[in-house]
Amino acid sequence: MISMLGMTTLSKAKALVRKWTPRLGLSDWDVTVRIGDLGTDRDAEVNLEAGRKEAIITVSADHDEDLELLMIHELVHLHFAWAGNDHAEGSGVLEEQAVWAISKALHRKKRGTTPSDQK
Ligand SMILES: [Zn+2]
Repeated sequence: MISMLGMTTLSKAKALVRKWTPRLGLSDWDVTVRIGDLGTDRDAEVNLEAGRKEAIITVSADHDEDLELLMIHELVHLHFAWAGNDHAEGSGVLEEQAVWAISKALHRKKRGTTPSDQK
């Protein structure tokens, strides 16, 4: 059973994944989004099967971080699939730093260049 907040978050997250998957060159991936309880310290996570190019992004309905930044972040992780880290099992600190740097830059660029895109 998903709450109203969860339903809203899920539909927004799915739309954001549809928007960013081609922009990030990840159209050959099969990305599923779901709502899940990740505890208090995590807003989202991605589980991926690199060989089949399948990914499942789980997002918390009561996430604190901007949803678009979260979706960009989890999608950028797919580019690091070759590193063999399953994000759910805790990927390396360096990967996490790289993914945050790239996703925040993309998120800022979006806001800077296309104001009409903002919510
Ligand atoms: Zn991450």
